[in-house]
Amino acid sequence: MSTEDLLSSVSDVSDETEFYTPLPTGYIRGRCKYVVITGTVMSGLGKGIFSSSLAKLMQDKGLKVSPVKLEGYLNVDSGTLNPFRHGEVFVLDDGMECDMDLGTYERMLDQDLTGMNFTTSGQIFTRVLEKERHGDYLGRDVQMIPHVTGEVKMRLRELAVASQADVVFIEIGGTVGDVENAYYIEAVRELAYEEGPGSVCFVALTYVLEPKTLGEQKSKAAQLGIKRLMENGVQPHIIACRAEHPVVDKVRQKIAQYANVPLERVFSMHDCESIYVVPEMLRESGLDFEVIRMLRLDERVNLQHERHAWLSWCDFVERDSNRKYHVRIGITGKYTSLRDSYASIIHALEHSGAALSTKIDIEWIDTSDLNDNNVTEKLAGLNGIIVPGGFGTRGAEGKIACIKYARENNLPYLGICFGFQMAVIEFARNVCGLKNANSTELQKDCQCPVVSILPEQEGIEGLGGNMRLGGKNVEINPETLAHRLFGGATSVRMRFRHRLEVDPQYIDTLTKNGLVFSGKAPGEPIMQILELPNHPYFIGTQAHPCMTSRPLHPQEMFVGLVAAARKINHPDQDLPDGFTAAETINKTIQSSIKAERSNVQPRSRAKNSVR
Ligand code: GLN
Repeated sequence: MSTEDLLSSVSDVSDETEFYTPLPTGYIRGRCKYVVITGTVMSGLGKGIFSSSLAKLMQDKGLKVSPVKLEGYLNVDSGTLNPFRHGEVFVLDDGMECDMDLGTYERMLDQDLTGMNFTTSGQIFTRVLEKERHGDYLGRDVQMIPHVTGEVKMRLRELAVASQADVVFIEIGGTVGDVENAYYIEAVRELAYEEGPGSVCFVALTYVLEPKTLGEQKSKAAQLGIKRLMENGVQPHIIACRAEHPVVDKVRQKIAQYANVPLERVFSMHDCESIYVVPEMLRESGLDFEVIRMLRLDERVNLQHERHAWLSWCDFVERDSNRKYHVRIGITGKYTSLRDSYASIIHALEHSGAALSTKIDIEWIDTSDLNDNNVTEKLAGLNGIIVPGGFGTRGAEGKIACIKYARENNLPYLGICFGFQMAVIEFARNVCGLKNANSTELQKDCQCPVVSILPEQEGIEGLGGNMRLGGKNVEINPETLAHRLFGGATSVRMRFRHRLEVDPQYIDTLTKNGLVFSGKAPGEPIMQILELPNHPYFIGTQAHPCMTSRPLHPQEMFVGLVAAARKINHPDQDLPDGFTAAETINKTIQSSIKAERSNVQPRSRAKNSVR
């Protein structure tokens, strides 16, 4: 049976053939191409950054791209993972709680993703077992191959259909050789076989060691890692060598010969000063062009689109590396030892800093032993402070002490989710005189629960995927700081992940005492943004604004914070305050995006040479 026949005679219960290839309705073979990224030697190579940068280069060429991360673990999503071990839990607009790499993709591609862009072994096996109980495999023993691998291919092709992508970027989590991702590698091998030549491009990301004692680069670990991939039936087309320094020709030659890959397709991907220059590095090395050639995508490339997109990106990179001003922002946090836990916040600060020509030094503040007596000393020299999202009691009182200090001393403040709730408690205790104010998360039977469980969350058992999750609209009150920050918008979309809220019975008391709730859920008494008039910059939100900040569209609340902090640290400069700055930046960015969009021509079908 030819591959063609195989794909047209698909059957879910097949005793006739050993092929098991369920196809989603509407799937057209050859329409969508695939780039598969695997890692060898070690984890933490920056597969997500590499893959999203390459995807960005394709997107810049006018191609529609859609990334997917295949996670090996059995958790259904990342919601129950400890950020201390795994990095932050990133929330997509549709409420999927996923790996932080999805944040990298959204930021790099400036594109909202969905649950279809994130797959775990838990999801794959759940689907297989549900089908088994439903009798879909009746008569067959359900096996890793072809049924589980079939389900993986199904997921990939479903994404191709739903996204209408020209290229789907498949990032396989972990490293080649891990037991938990072995079936993913088998699935993409089968995919390449079924889709045919020119449809799937395999990129092996590897690592070239440079032991200090030797002072030279060694390729053996990389060779063995790639060999492992080849033992699994996958011949890489492209090898990208991560390394501390540029990979020397001799090492590239060794790897090329050992892996059956032409030398010009073995690239050095050495460390660089910022992740934002990775696309440039890939572009300069010609890697994007190799992928285009390999996947025969030349005819879909739109050079004019590429020029515009590239100019905007270079403009951002330029601003990112040239910063005139300087601020120190404190971030309080339980997971202070692991910056990955706060990846989105760090990126949101970078985006705003670039927009405002401001270098940001982040100071991590451990609040476990912080109180009203030592807060002044601990926050000395800061120009702004963020209390980020969090769960549980550890360090909570210290965070409240920081907020009190910020409120009383005109220190710019941004409260995110937990930080919003702590600001409500602080205000209730110290301004409204509700001495026993607290959150029921911190004190179960507290007398004055200004923050309490959302009614919809009451009675929910278990911990997976059941918080108030995902993108929600926020209604913005006119004539507030939020209204100005969002450029006069009366509704904005933000990402949420919480179980508690400001208890509606206290809203009146809080507002009467001067707290302004400038954003709320439409049609529900769920407060979503708070602010303090008569303060240079004091704002909090029940949402996670960091998750929607993008390099070319910095999130407004962060812009406001950085601008306010900059004004404090550079009082001699005539700089706009937080909201005026955000307002101006927003307008400038929006108008340049509009201009860019109107310049984009429909995709050229003419044969273009890519370079
Ligand atoms: N623990 C709080 C809640 O569940 C805040 C959550 C968060 O910061 N993501 O509402």
